Amino acid sequence: MNDRYSRQALFKPIGNYGQEKIREKHVLIIGCGALGTANAESLVRAGIGRLTIIDRDYVEESNLHRQQLFTERDYLDQLPKAVAAKNHLHRINSSVDIVTYVMDGDSTNIAPLLDDVDLVIDATDNFDIRFIMNDLVHQYNIPWIFGSCVGSTGMSYTIIPDKTPCLQCLLEATPVSGATCDSVGVIAPTVQMVVAHQQVEALKILVEDFEALRTRLVTFDLWNNLYHTIDMKRSKKSTCPTCGENRSYPKLTYESQTKMEVLCGRNTVQVRAKREVHLDELAVRLSELGKIHQNDFLLSLEYQEYRVVIFRDGRVLIHGTDSTEEARNIYYQLVG
Ligand SMILES: [Zn+2]
Repeated sequence: MNDRYSRQALFKPIGNYGQEKIREKHVLIIGCGALGTANAESLVRAGIGRLTIIDRDYVEESNLHRQQLFTERDYLDQLPKAVAAKNHLHRINSSVDIVTYVMDGDSTNIAPLLDDVDLVIDATDNFDIRFIMNDLVHQYNIPWIFGSCVGSTGMSYTIIPDKTPCLQCLLEATPVSGATCDSVGVIAPTVQMVVAHQQVEALKILVEDFEALRTRLVTFDLWNNLYHTIDMKRSKKSTCPTCGENRSYPKLTYESQTKMEVLCGRNTVQVRAKREVHLDELAVRLSELGKIHQNDFLLSLEYQEYRVVIFRDGRVLIHGTDSTEEARNIYYQLVG
């Protein structure tokens, strides 16, 4: 074993055998923001063989305080995140085969990339894509590591198809708030703590030490000094459409995808998401961002130069733009 990985290979549970395993493996990271860049850097430094990164965004100034691979130059050049990340990762370890996709991942364009993937790492910022990934990894039988962070709170859980509950089962047992980094902010240590929990599990999976996996959901609040792990074994449901006995992989159907459509002549984009929203809960959170009007059917918010109308059935109208890309960003910032 060469000197580059000597300290890692000296660590007994990895050893030269594990180091070689890491070199043979292919990891896919979905999302290349704070969680994505930090996960990618760790894997590349650890000597992963192949890395695939998918991200739809470009680098913005407000990313720089926590998205550790990016520089001011990347932001000034408005580089796509996946491209900027690849540039830096290649300088860190030129022996890693890195493939990037600048695209809005969905069930149809991610599936063809999963054929020889050994592990998927969740570094996304919304549940639409997480639920799609949850279905995909179960269909393809690939372990994946869920991670999320907002403010000073974070969460991670390792999902092994056919062994652990899936994300759907998990979130039915442990509801998470709809807060997003764009509404309540986030601090860098939260990101690093989530990544540490994801990366240690990634190493265990890559060296095939499945016995060592945490098996518990970890959740913490760094500012308020709280740290919990929760046994999720009993939350696995035999009726679950993703990991249960009769699987339909509901999020892979065309109808379940979030859809954007420009409403002609109205300078408005409509977002159709197949999920109900809790208007009261949303109103409390969004009231900090702008003027709100609410009735039994909808909530409307004056936000920056837009007016955003959110219906109880999950449909959202974004007035003030006819760009689906812009609308999508606003949608995920506000609704999560
Ligand atoms: Zn399930």
